[in-house]
Amino acid sequence: MEEEKTQGCSGDCGSCSQSCSDRAQDSLIEPTGEYNSIKHVIGVVSGKGGVGKSTVTSMLAVLMRRKGYKVGILDADITGPSIPKTFGINSRAMQNEIGILPAVTESGIEIMSVNLMLEEKDSPVIWRGPVIAGVVKQFWQDVVWGDLDYLFIDCPPGTGDVPLTVFQSIPLSGAVIVTSPQDLVSLIVKKAYNMAKLMNIPVLGIVENMSYAVCPDCGKSFKIFGGGSEGIADELGVDLLGKMPIDLSLTQMADNGMFERFENEYLTEAADIIDKKVNG
Ligand code: ADP
Repeated sequence: MEEEKTQGCSGDCGSCSQSCSDRAQDSLIEPTGEYNSIKHVIGVVSGKGGVGKSTVTSMLAVLMRRKGYKVGILDADITGPSIPKTFGINSRAMQNEIGILPAVTESGIEIMSVNLMLEEKDSPVIWRGPVIAGVVKQFWQDVVWGDLDYLFIDCPPGTGDVPLTVFQSIPLSGAVIVTSPQDLVSLIVKKAYNMAKLMNIPVLGIVENMSYAVCPDCGKSFKIFGGGSEGIADELGVDLLGKMPIDLSLTQMADNGMFERFENEYLTEAADIIDKKVNG
């Protein structure tokens, strides 16, 4: 079967009548809106919540923007959206005759989040999985992103409906897995990794967040959560793209909506590696 597929496959499903397994996956990919031209879509995932996935998504977006790229963030964490607040965006999304317009941050990053749709920012989103997944698809198809070099998708944690929808229906250039340095989390990292692999999404690497904290008095660094992610990265054969410490000024800047003004080099190399990997 494998032999038949590789021998006969031109890679062009449009001119082929075979129904091989690759074709089934291809057919679920949805095109983005006709006014959009998006070079690279990067999914940011984590096995569990609270490891800093949204923070890493935002930081990678800011760093790509600082490189001069046109960047957007699709906040697919529908039940726990935090991206607009960290960028100080309080406006509601607007719509015109061609689609939904994303909010634009101080430095020009385009953002779409369910929080831009809610009348009250603290209203809970009590929707079932398929409805939520539908909203994410709508953000991909109906938002007028225009020309983007990078669209980062902040996926909800875990391997449920929404990450599955993102992996199956949006043409990702790759996935970044965010983790914290705990043994317990490494098992969950494997789940996120295996899900990406099953869906044929290249895993660009792992970002370890909350790796350590530096004492403001003595300058000594402490590994609050113990170990590191080198072991799991080696085991899975993926790059450890970067490490980010627990940094109180980051929390404060994010809480005050000034994330873009947070100057640091924590993930500069990670952004460079991702840029190189997806641009060949
Ligand atoms: P997740 O998306 O995985 O649920 P978030 O990125 O929303 O996690 O982070 C949870 C909270 O922790 C936020 O308040 C965020 O500002 C804070 N946080 C995340 N990473 C760091 C860090 N490295 N240093 C300080 N605070 C952080």
